[in-house]
Amino acid sequence: MSAGAGAGALAANLAAVRGSIATACRDAGRDPSGVVLLPVSKTFGEDVVREAVGLGLRRFGENKVQEIQAKATALAGERLDWVVIGHLQTNKAKAVAKFAAEVQSLDRLDLAIALDKALQAQGRAIDVLVQVKTSREESKFGLAPESLPAFLDELKAFSSLRLRGLMTLAEASDDEAVVRGCFRTLYRLRDSAREAGHPADRLSMGMSGDFALAIAEGSTEVRIGSAIFGARSYKP
Ligand SMILES: *Cc1c(COP(=O)(O)O)cnc(C)c1O
Repeated sequence: MSAGAGAGALAANLAAVRGSIATACRDAGRDPSGVVLLPVSKTFGEDVVREAVGLGLRRFGENKVQEIQAKATALAGERLDWVVIGHLQTNKAKAVAKFAAEVQSLDRLDLAIALDKALQAQGRAIDVLVQVKTSREESKFGLAPESLPAFLDELKAFSSLRLRGLMTLAEASDDEAVVRGCFRTLYRLRDSAREAGHPADRLSMGMSGDFALAIAEGSTEVRIGSAIFGARSYKP
């Protein structure tokens, strides 16, 4: 695992990111309290997370359940919230039910069934966001926008999954209009979901490279890894 940004750098990076979020909010005429920062600690070791905890962070985005399990175990005394943001295989449902506080990458019915069952067995419920594929890239995961309304209706049957909103990754593109278009699609889908009566208030969109655009398009939560923790030594 990576060593991270190094002593002192983490605090400076975090302050800079918070400053940029505040600036983006001001530019968009939005109240900064309406945008939550989810630090993404994937690939960084427990020492780096511990340093981040020292700076007041308590909630971390991760994309691999095994990594959550290792870090949650190592840092059990800290009572941190681990948020799954990566593609989940159905056979990981039990581990998610044990170690995760929230899943933002819910994207299909068989996963909802497995997660709900595993959570029932643990006697707990978690917040979920539905991941929608707003880009044209084959490599990206997520539910097709046209499948969202029916999926949200089906989710009501799972009492251990509390729907809170939607999540997306924008297309990796140098064209701002393309990136904004992805975020705008998610914003509109949330409007439709709310109109249909679903409690989908949160919009998790924006990462290190595009969070200012996401905030301009209405993001309520930005998932930021490298701008806080430094470059990752391997591609997740
Ligand atoms: C890794 C990851 C992020 C953070 O990416 P950065 O570019 O490092 O900020 C955000 N969201 C998801 C789903 C990720 O996998």
